[in-house]
Amino acid sequence: MVSKNSPIIIVGGGAFGLSTALHLSQNGYTDITIFEQDTQIPPRYSAANDLNKIVRAEYEDSFYTDLTIKAIAAWKTPLFAPHFHQTGFLHCVTGAAPEKAIGTLKRFQGAANNHPQLRPHVVQLNGPGDIRPWFWQCDGPLPGWKGYINRFDGYAHSGNALAAVYRVTQNSGVKFFLGAKGAVQEIVYKDGKGTGIKTVDGKFHGAALVIVAAGAAASKLIPELGGQVVAKSWSVAHVHLTDEETSALRGIPVTYARDLGFYFEPDPKTNLLKLCPMGGGYINTDPNTGVSHSPGSLETSAFMPPDDEERVRKLLAQTLPGLADRPLVRKSLCWFADTKDSDFIIDYLPGTGASVVLLSGDSGHGFKMFPIVGEWVKALLEDESKTQAIARWRWKDQKEEKEEDWGGDVSWRLGETRELKDVLPGKTKL
Ligand SMILES: Cc1cc2nc3c(=O)[nH]c(=O)nc-3n(C[C@H](O)[C@H](O)[C@H](O)COP(=O)(O)OP(=O)(O)OC[C@H]3O[C@@H](n4cnc5c(N)ncnc54)[C@H](O)[C@@H]3O)c2cc1C
Repeated sequence: MVSKNSPIIIVGGGAFGLSTALHLSQNGYTDITIFEQDTQIPPRYSAANDLNKIVRAEYEDSFYTDLTIKAIAAWKTPLFAPHFHQTGFLHCVTGAAPEKAIGTLKRFQGAANNHPQLRPHVVQLNGPGDIRPWFWQCDGPLPGWKGYINRFDGYAHSGNALAAVYRVTQNSGVKFFLGAKGAVQEIVYKDGKGTGIKTVDGKFHGAALVIVAAGAAASKLIPELGGQVVAKSWSVAHVHLTDEETSALRGIPVTYARDLGFYFEPDPKTNLLKLCPMGGGYINTDPNTGVSHSPGSLETSAFMPPDDEERVRKLLAQTLPGLADRPLVRKSLCWFADTKDSDFIIDYLPGTGASVVLLSGDSGHGFKMFPIVGEWVKALLEDESKTQAIARWRWKDQKEEKEEDWGGDVSWRLGETRELKDVLPGKTKL
């Protein structure tokens, strides 16, 4: 077991890395260093460098429902509360939704209704007339919309939450190496045991334990992971509102049509309303290895594919038609680490004598857990058996994994996964 004064390196200053630093430093670990490739935190490469992320408790799988309920309790504590907004989650399908979307919506609603803590907050919505009282600003036709609202849910301002935890961990003695000094080129091993890391500026930094929390880029540092995790992205764009429009939309619920996408209440500092289309996402497969990696440069991802743009404009036309033809700004593909079953991977890297921990597989639903992720890492480090007690979060034997369909058949996803090269601007096949 790593001792509380052993040097611990965390690679990645995104959601999982910062949460780990917070919990370890709050629990007596004294020598923690985060290495982050960007020059700033929140890092621009982090999937959580964003205005907002949905925090919804109902999962089809009650394991994650229970964890989210714990996370929401933590979101309401002083460090996190300024960044959590319990606006409710308006979860619907449109009249044109395919069966898969309708089935998923029903299972989510069933999960919320079956949970004693969530049930009192859930209201069934049988049509536009039921929806409008919860979202009075909505002046669109809501054609065939139905679903439910869960007032237990909401969203978190993820970029600001990262910044807050950065400040607190810095003040409690966690060291940070950013930019070229923080960009990790490789994990250094001796006789199979991790002894530290080498950064791109050629420096070696020793550690008793290396925790890899590198998000979509994890398999660049741990190539063996490529069989379990795929770098995948969804697109994001924003509408820039006036002060008055932002003000008028204060308090709207997170509005989600399963077959189109979702948006959030606008951010009062930037007047940006963030939009995400629903879809199977984009991968970037290296033809030589068959492994998908996030592109090295942010510029490559600074666009929204036309099909996605069509979907978010339709979402606006049905709900807030005055915004449907506005320019979309700050477009990007946002990269995350996807597993086939949407389970996280929080485990020792096999064969390293418990010297390397992997924190990955967020599968695009990890930010809601930001306040509590580090607790899980602490539990792993303090388990004398050096085994992840939660079987579903263990490193998976590659032979058990099937080749086909990287998470595409996960029930909460809709649409096929496409290759980045096929949707890059100028190369889109229409
Ligand atoms: C479009 C989109 C929408 C999402 N919506 C939601 C949502 O509504 N609700 C929700 O709960 N979750 C959501 N997520 C998921 C959430 O953002 C992630 O689960 C979370 O950010 C994962 O945290 P992470 O620390 O694993 O990765 P990240 O936050 O991406 O952080 C990884 C960090 O590692 C750094 N790094 C990588 N390689 C190196 C290296 N070699 N050296 C140094 N640093 C390195 C990167 O720069 C980055 O800062 C969404 C994700 C996307 C993409």
